[in-house]
Amino acid sequence: MQARVLALVFGVVAVIATPAVAGPSKEDLAARAAALQKQLAGQGYTVLVEPPFVVIGDESPKKVQQRASFVRWIVKLLEKDYFSKQPDKIIDVWLFRNQSTYKRGAKKFFDDEPTTPYGYYSSEDSALIMNIGPGAGTLSHEIVHPYIEANFPDGPAWFNEGLASLYEQPREKDGHMWGTTNWRLPGLQGMIKNKSIPSLSKLMSTTRDAFYDAPYDSYAYARFLCQYLQDHGKLIEFYKKLTADKKDLTGQASLAAVVGMDVAAFDAVFQKWAMSLRR
Ligand SMILES: [Zn+2]
Repeated sequence: MQARVLALVFGVVAVIATPAVAGPSKEDLAARAAALQKQLAGQGYTVLVEPPFVVIGDESPKKVQQRASFVRWIVKLLEKDYFSKQPDKIIDVWLFRNQSTYKRGAKKFFDDEPTTPYGYYSSEDSALIMNIGPGAGTLSHEIVHPYIEANFPDGPAWFNEGLASLYEQPREKDGHMWGTTNWRLPGLQGMIKNKSIPSLSKLMSTTRDAFYDAPYDSYAYARFLCQYLQDHGKLIEFYKKLTADKKDLTGQASLAAVVGMDVAAFDAVFQKWAMSLRR
C-alpha cells in the first residue's frame, strides 16, 4: 500500500513537473545570431540558433547543421534528468574544424591561447570554444558546464568534470543519456595498478584549484565515479541528494547514502569494479 501511494505521488509529480526554466528568449537568440552573422560575414562561418545556445562553426553548413542537431539531443537528455534551469545568458558555441583554426579562432575572437587541445568553457566570454575535429565528445562534455553553472554553482569541481567527462561518448538508453567507457579508462586503471590513486574521500573533498592541478588523473577518477553510479542505477538519485545537501558539498554523505556504506569502505568496491572494466 505504501509503495502504491508513493508511486501515485511520484506519478503526480511527474505530470505536474514544469519544463526547464527557459534561458534566453527567442528574440534575444535571433538578435545574437544576426549580430554574429554580420560580424563573421564572408569568413566561412555558419551561425545557427539552437536554444539555449547559438552555434557557430567553420565546417560545411551541412556539418554545422548536424552539430546543432547533436546539441539539441544532448540538451534534451541533460534537461530531462538533471537540469531544471537553462543558462540564463546567451552562450555561443564555437566549433572549429581543426586544431589550427581552433587556436587561431581562440586568439582572434577571445585573445586566448588554449591550454587544452580539445576545448573549454569561458564563463566570462559566455562561450564554449572547441576543436570539433577529433569528434563530438568535447561538445557533449562542454555543454554540461554552463548547465552546472546555472543549476549547481556551488557544486564540487569533481562532479562538474566527472559528469561532463562521463558524457564524452554518449548514447541514448531507454530515453536517457548514457556514458560509455571511454579513453580515460587506462588513466584510472594505471593509478589503481601502481597504487598512486588517492582515496575517494580525498578526491571528493579536493578544492576547485586542487582538482585542476591534481598530481593524479583527477578527471578519469571523477568520471568513473560517475560511471559507477550510472551503471548501478544510482547517478540521478545521487545528483538529487548532492544538490539538496547544504551541509556536505563534497558529496561524501550523499555517496555513502546511495551505495549503502561509508566512503572509506567503498574505495575497495569501486576499485574492484574499475579493474573489471574493458574498453
Ligand atoms: Zn570540463
